[in-house]
Amino acid sequence: MNGIIGMLDLLLEGELAPEQAEQLQTAQSCAYSLLTLLNDLLDLSKIEAGKMTLEKIPFDIRGTLDECMKAHYPRAAQNRTALRSEVSPDVPEQVVGDPLRIRQILSNLISNAVKFTQAGTVDVLVDSGFSGQAGFWLQFKVEDSGTGIPADKLALIFDKFTQADGSVSRKYGGTGLGLAITRKLVEMHGGEIYVKSEVGRGTTFVAKLPCDIAIDEQGDGRSIERLAAAPADATLSLIRILVVEDNQVNQKVVTTVLRKRGYSIEVASDGTEALAKLEKSTGFDLILMDVQMPVLDGLEATRLIRKDPRWKGLPIVAMTAHAMSGDMERCLEAGMNGYISKPVHPSQLLETVDGYLHRSLVHR
Ligand code: MN
Repeated sequence: MNGIIGMLDLLLEGELAPEQAEQLQTAQSCAYSLLTLLNDLLDLSKIEAGKMTLEKIPFDIRGTLDECMKAHYPRAAQNRTALRSEVSPDVPEQVVGDPLRIRQILSNLISNAVKFTQAGTVDVLVDSGFSGQAGFWLQFKVEDSGTGIPADKLALIFDKFTQADGSVSRKYGGTGLGLAITRKLVEMHGGEIYVKSEVGRGTTFVAKLPCDIAIDEQGDGRSIERLAAAPADATLSLIRILVVEDNQVNQKVVTTVLRKRGYSIEVASDGTEALAKLEKSTGFDLILMDVQMPVLDGLEATRLIRKDPRWKGLPIVAMTAHAMSGDMERCLEAGMNGYISKPVHPSQLLETVDGYLHRSLVHR
């Protein structure tokens, strides 16, 4: 099949009468459709035969998303549709999963949204979180302002060879297998996918996948469990760090990296909790402070801490997603000593924390 497409490419590059060129172009687009159908069928039969296995390797989800987005910009531009993406700053730098299959899931959802959206918007949002037994999960939300899917077709949308309408395949192309494959891939991950849609308003697909967080300074793929098992520096256990952060994913990343180094860590989920912990114990050597938190945010908490002479010299380092947009100045104004930017990079975190603690230990 690739040979046929290659030959057609060569022919199309040569000198051709307009009619011949058109015929060849039609032949080429047929060949491409057939290739897509073959690949989809191969994937589906592999999954159904239980022959597809998932990899578990650390990868950069932001990079994966960027690649997917790039592939779909031309079609979006053709449709005069704005294709946009956003990754929550609390999504870790590296996650553990099957980058190829996760890319396929993302790509199918984006391709589908772009296909059915004319002169509108397609927003791709990546988020992560923790939940009970499931542990860490990644969430992909693809929201379009396109044609929408009628309610009676919505239940069938993930079935094989089902498109919302028989005319869809003729008008928009596609094999009708993309969403079936997507659902199977999500289920293979132990995840779930659902769709909300309103005709004339648009469609939203949400896929939630259990994954792992990769925390690794060298990039050689050690998982969180193996890091936790690594020997820590016993002398550092005397140093106590208060981590103030409302987001559970970021809490986990930061505390794992610091505990692995050997520091003693306590966690507070907002500014009020942090003040209560400080009040109970005077032995903290450093505070890592998230900026945006419910109840009492990082800036306000820092102002309150700085008002109290007991904590005058206690270093406070901000963790901020908006280091570029004046947050840095606001943090310093509130009385913080410095900042690290989100998503938190393990080696940067250690470098910063070690730096402040070295300074404060020398002055003891
Ligand atoms: Mn926060």
